[in-house]
Amino acid sequence: MRSDSLKHQGLRNQLAEELRSKGVSDERVLRAIQKVPRHWFLDSSFEDYAYQDKAFPIASGQTISQPLTVGLQSQWLEATPGMKVLEIGTGSGYQCAVLCEMGLKVHSIERQKELFDSASVLLKSMGYRPTLKFGDGHQGLPTYAPFDRILVTAAALDVPHALLAQLKIGGRLIIPVGGEGEQRMLMLVRQSETEFVRSEHGSFRFVPMLEGKANAQ
Ligand code: SAH
Repeated sequence: MRSDSLKHQGLRNQLAEELRSKGVSDERVLRAIQKVPRHWFLDSSFEDYAYQDKAFPIASGQTISQPLTVGLQSQWLEATPGMKVLEIGTGSGYQCAVLCEMGLKVHSIERQKELFDSASVLLKSMGYRPTLKFGDGHQGLPTYAPFDRILVTAAALDVPHALLAQLKIGGRLIIPVGGEGEQRMLMLVRQSETEFVRSEHGSFRFVPMLEGKANAQ
């Protein structure tokens, strides 16, 4: 495992304060960001920049989300420890680690095999025990449904029906919706079998949510 120095810890404390000043107020989220070594989720050539509030490239042409985005999405979940959460887009595994650190039971899906493999190894070595799946997040994870919360970390063109169907009543889905460029962050709270209350929470930039597994023909 890579090292985690006092300097890294200091930079994480500064990052948490920066996120606080930018609107992240949930203490459980801020503590998780202070705790999880983000530099372990990046290629070592980016190590010196890991605690800047920026997105960075990871393998398979994908990106690790900007810390502010991770902070806000995690906060908007309004999740309490023990809740069952589904994440779409494991990517580096960083957001997944933050959710695990918040005490959530995390399930996460990734369509790129290389990222699925590397996140599986890293998260396990850190002692986290999420359920990770290699597959297409559009289908959700019917075997483990329903979920208290669903968090999508790739840009969807529309809200996938399977994800709405796999939400508990009272549960919420956070999902960036839109085409290339900017997307609107939507929150959908399930009121009943058929009713969802929808609200919008600003503009963000994510890599696209694509159909199918990356290496499936
Ligand atoms: N949460 C990640 C962000 C990664 S970027 C992190 O903290 O690093 C979004 C990820 O979503 C990419 O890894 C991309 O491969 C993945 N993705 C895109 N479409 C998907 C789909 N249909 N199902 C599952 N994962 C998907």
